[in-house]
Amino acid sequence: MPQDKSLQDLFIETLKDIYFAEKQIYRSLPKMAKAAQAQDLREAFRHHQEQTEGQIERLEQVFELIGKPARGKQCLAILGIIEEAKEIMEEFGDSQALDAGLLATAQAVEHYEISRYGTLKAWAKRMGLKDVVPLLEENLKEEKETDVLLTELAGTIVNAEAA
Ligand code: FE
Ligand code: FE
Ligand code: FE
Repeated sequence: MPQDKSLQDLFIETLKDIYFAEKQIYRSLPKMAKAAQAQDLREAFRHHQEQTEGQIERLEQVFELIGKPARGKQCLAILGIIEEAKEIMEEFGDSQALDAGLLATAQAVEHYEISRYGTLKAWAKRMGLKDVVPLLEENLKEEKETDVLLTELAGTIVNAEAA
C-alpha cells in the first residue's frame, strides 16, 4: 500500500470523480427529459441540465485554483445509476409508472452528488482552500434544491398519475 498519499491526493481523485459524473449527467438529462411524461418533470430535467453546465464550469475553476488540469476519472457509481435509468426507460417506457421511476433515478443521482460535494467541501475546508469552498458549496446547494424539487414533484405527479 502506498504510504505517501495525502488528503490532497484524495481530494483530487474525488474531484475527478464528480467531474466525470457531472459530464455523464449532462449527457443523460436530455434523454430523461424526453422520456418524462409530465410537463413539470420534463422542465425540471431541462432546467437541471442548464444548472449542470454551470456546475461543470465551477469544477473547472476548482481545478484551476488548485493548479491541476481538469480531468475526469471514471465513476462507476454514476455509470451504474445511469444504466439503471436506461433500464427503467426501456422496461417502463410507455407505462404509468415511468415518471415515478425517472424521479427515483434522478433522486439517486442527486443523493450521490450531495454526498460527493459534502465530502469535497469538508476536505477543502480542512485543507484551508478558502476560494474553493464557496464553489463546492454552490454546487452542493443546487443539488440539494433539486432533490427537494424532485421530492415535491414525486408528491404531485405520482399521486396525480396514480389517481
Ligand atoms: Fe450536478
Ligand atoms: Fe464515483
Ligand atoms: Fe444534480
